Amino acid sequence: MAKKETKAIRTRVEKTPLREHSTPLFLTSGFTFDSAEAGRAMFAEEVAGNIYSRFSNPNTSEFIDKMVELENAQDGVAYATGMAAIFGVVAPLLKSADHILACRSLFGSTHQIFTQILPRWGISCTYVDAADQGGWDERIQPNTRMLFIETPSNPGLDLIDLARAAELSAKHDLIFVVDNTFATPWLQNPVDFGADLVVHSATKYIDGQGRVLGGIAVGKKEYVRDLRFFARQTGPSLSPFNAWLLSKSLETLAVRLEKHCENAMIVAEFLDRHAEVEQTRYPFLPSFPQIDLAKSQMRAAGGVITFAAKGGYDRAARFIDSLKMLTVSANLGDTRTIVTHPASTTHSKLSDEERAAVGISPGLLRISVGLENCDDIIADLTQALRRSKL
Ligand SMILES: *Cc1c(COP(=O)(O)O)cnc(C)c1O
Repeated sequence: MAKKETKAIRTRVEKTPLREHSTPLFLTSGFTFDSAEAGRAMFAEEVAGNIYSRFSNPNTSEFIDKMVELENAQDGVAYATGMAAIFGVVAPLLKSADHILACRSLFGSTHQIFTQILPRWGISCTYVDAADQGGWDERIQPNTRMLFIETPSNPGLDLIDLARAAELSAKHDLIFVVDNTFATPWLQNPVDFGADLVVHSATKYIDGQGRVLGGIAVGKKEYVRDLRFFARQTGPSLSPFNAWLLSKSLETLAVRLEKHCENAMIVAEFLDRHAEVEQTRYPFLPSFPQIDLAKSQMRAAGGVITFAAKGGYDRAARFIDSLKMLTVSANLGDTRTIVTHPASTTHSKLSDEERAAVGISPGLLRISVGLENCDDIIADLTQALRRSKL
């Protein structure tokens, strides 16, 4: 069987009669039927085929097929954004009076869905800590239906033991969902450890070039069937144009990620050694507390590092203002190296206590290491650390 790099390149929809080498863009909202009977049979789902791009489109199907292969999943649904994918997983699989167990370190908008939107429909959520995985069992209620986690977490880079989480889910008959955005399917495959569904913000490393938004959920057929019904009826569909770009991006996912990881390891070691840096977190650094777990479930550690320079918030702000090349932005997973101050931006809606609980100190900085020459990244970090010294 072909290897993943090959599948990410060679998986494609059928060629048109023009025999084009690279998949073209199918910008069409609808498709035609050859006869009255053909239309009836397609709507009755007796024969497969494209009807309308809210339901399916060749570009979207190609992107889904590749992601299903890369994640060792059975089936999938693509969405306009990562958040549409996350909502598209919880909404069809849960009902009023159900309960979610979720890790405390969650992407900000996922936290808002769990604490602001779902409670209005009678769905409740309890947070558990990555550090206390042994205690999760006690937080399960008779109505708990889903376990939702991120590993590595954003921005704390806490890891959750996927096999252990899958064991707990199996024991209590929970739907086990993993947001795998940070790791990408190249570095970690939660399905191999027992996850039922894997979601991604394709906006990050899957596009990888900061161009388009997208999301996807892949996993077991029995769940994807319900996800597809919900997506077809409610319409959070991925646009064919974005699907076309994302499918092309997957062709270079492996080489891009290898370079992100190589650059990130060099930057992490540089920060770890630097006299002005108090704490550097990167899952494959020897000083990382969960390095053994990281190596057991990830191929490499990814492109995101966190660190705090001496001097707390003021130092972090001065550091950001001293950068010359690196970009200050809230995004991640781009070719360009990005520096983010989570406490004042991505995680500013959390209270001080909530931030402290997920390891976001006032001076914490997150770096999404890009694909520039690493000497240039280190040079900018060096001068910004020097100039920001109080
Ligand atoms: C960005 C992100 C999301 C949301 O994705 P969008 O494409 O911005 O909607 C969800 N989870 C994680 C971990 C993310 O980084």
